[in-house]
This record gives sequence, structure tokens and C-alpha cells, in this order.
Amino acid sequence: MTYDPTNVFARILAKEIPAEILHEDDRCLAFRDVSPQAPVHLLVIPKRPIARLADAQRDDRDMLGHLLVTAAELARSQGFAEDGFRIVVNSGERAGQSVFHLHVHVLAGRDMAWPPG
Ligand code: AMP
Repeated sequence: MTYDPTNVFARILAKEIPAEILHEDDRCLAFRDVSPQAPVHLLVIPKRPIARLADAQRDDRDMLGHLLVTAAELARSQGFAEDGFRIVVNSGERAGQSVFHLHVHVLAGRDMAWPPG
């Protein structure tokens, strides 16, 4: 899918709109979801423009691993690693993706149901 550089996460990366940023490095940014679905709801996004997980290529392996390791580091630094947390990546509209810049949801602070809705 073609990447739309005007999407809301691109604008957060460009610091054109504010976000509550918890972590930033050369490859990713992590911030609080504006509409939290759990007591803790963070988003970890790559700086590289990629619309969906469905568009990932072999060259994206390091970046994708970096997003997950960053999520784990945030879980430890924010104190919910041992309590448990859920990682969600919605890829495509049918899966519920609404912002077409790849992102990892990190949800914690409540019991999680399975199967997910
Ligand atoms: P998804 O539905 O998987 O594409 O997730 C997009 C997420 O982005 C949703 O959970 C939204 O609440 C969140 N979101 C949308 N706009 C913003 C924003 N400006 N700042 C932080 N989170 C946002």
C-alpha cells in the first residue's frame, strides 16, 4: 500500500502535533494512545514510513524487532512487565487499522480477553 505522508503518526513524528512521548531513538518513537483501551495503552512506531505490517519486507526485520524490544523495555521501565501486557498490530482495515503508519499497541493494567474481538 502507498504510504500517505500526511497521516497522523507522520505528523507526530514531524512534531507537527503533540503527543505524550515516552521514548525516542533513531529508529522509533513511543507515546501514549490518545484514546486508551486499557489503563496503560502505548504505541510504538517506526520512524521509517511503512503503512502496514502487510507491507513489511525482509529489510524490515531489524526495525520490527526493534519495535518489540522497545515495547519490552518500556514495559520494564513503566513497571508493568511482570504483571503482563498485550501486543497488538492491526494490519489492514478489516483488522481494525485506522492509522496507516505501522504501529505496535502495548496494552496493560487489566485482564485481557481471548480470543480478541
Ligand atoms: P489502529 O486502529 O490499530 O490503526 O490504531 C490507531 C490508534 O491510534 C488508535 O488506538 C487511536 O486511538 C490512536 N490515535 C489516533 N490519533 C492519535 C493521536 N493524535 N495521538 C495518539 N494516539 C492516536
